[in-house]
Amino acid sequence: MDQKRDYYEVLGVSKSASEDELKKAYRQLAKKYHPDANPGDKEAEAKFKEASEAYQVLSDPEKRQMYDQYGHAAFEAGGGPGGGAYDFSGSFSDIFDMFGFGDMFGGGARRGAQRSNAPRSGASVRTSIRITFEEAVFGCEKDLELNLKDICKTCGGNGAKPGTSPETCPRCKGQGVIVYTQQSILGVIQNQKTCPDCRGTGKIIRDKCKDCYGTGYVTTRKTIRVSVPAGIDEGQSVRIPNMGEPGINGGERGSLLVDVIVSRHPFLQRDGYDLFSTMPISFAQAALGGDIIIPTIDGDVIYELKAGTQTDTKVRLRGKGVPHIHRETERGDQYVTLVVQVPTKLTAEQREKLKEFNESMGGKNPDDTKKKKFFGK
Ligand SMILES: [Zn+2]
Ligand SMILES: [Zn+2]
Repeated sequence: MDQKRDYYEVLGVSKSASEDELKKAYRQLAKKYHPDANPGDKEAEAKFKEASEAYQVLSDPEKRQMYDQYGHAAFEAGGGPGGGAYDFSGSFSDIFDMFGFGDMFGGGARRGAQRSNAPRSGASVRTSIRITFEEAVFGCEKDLELNLKDICKTCGGNGAKPGTSPETCPRCKGQGVIVYTQQSILGVIQNQKTCPDCRGTGKIIRDKCKDCYGTGYVTTRKTIRVSVPAGIDEGQSVRIPNMGEPGINGGERGSLLVDVIVSRHPFLQRDGYDLFSTMPISFAQAALGGDIIIPTIDGDVIYELKAGTQTDTKVRLRGKGVPHIHRETERGDQYVTLVVQVPTKLTAEQREKLKEFNESMGGKNPDDTKKKKFFGK
């Protein structure tokens, strides 16, 4: 954990970066280190995950505040079951609960004994799924396995063996933090750090509950079905209510946020709801016109090419783009760039015909013997 890079450094933004700046920085990095753009590159994958993790924390105002105050230490204690970059936000409410951060954010109330009993909803959990380009365009249903966390029924969530209860930490007297003073140029500064004995909980559990190992939580492996709407794009996520962290004091469960990672398409590029492709056509097709077959996301379509089509002509296929995520009946368009191909290999007969053609257009033919080398290749 010590070698973890600073989240702001990971995203390459300043400590005062706005939400927009964070988002922009994250999107750039996600694009650069996307597993598709770097197949088999473990380092890129690690960077991709590192950026996601940094963004998860910094994009959430509460987590960002915690991070600003305590750095990575804020999230270390809650490692718990099911680590890994994407699951790691699953440990946050542990920390919120254990460290009494909820109280801290609630307007500087004294931590410890006077913890509020008001119901609080659980934190949201982030995960990700990979879908194909077509699945993003047309929507899909995906089964997702996750560790769903619940308050341990055996101990009621306090982590102590039934019949016992957690004791107040003698070192910090239940405060969870130790206040110390430091001499500086500006005078004496009061600092505080997390109590190492209770790791900030303010409580010591002598006899741990055997069902939750003293964490107060149990996790069950669950499979849930995720409905991914048509038109979703990379960087967007599906919110599933009630699949996040359990609420506190009877509060509602948080949401599960499923980020989608979209695989690239072999010949289509996407920008918003429009699709883009390039289509080679022969010199003869371009000159003569006629029907050509253009592949689209819906399958092949026949397009009537105008005689005398120039290279780089852009064709718009209306309604062959991506369905709008909120209005599925509306779709974007596909833009096809027609590229005229010059033949690289000609038979003797074809060459003769081309020369004839060239002459008929009033052109001068190259000296066949001299240029043979160039023609033949
Ligand atoms: Zn328990
Ligand atoms: Zn303590």
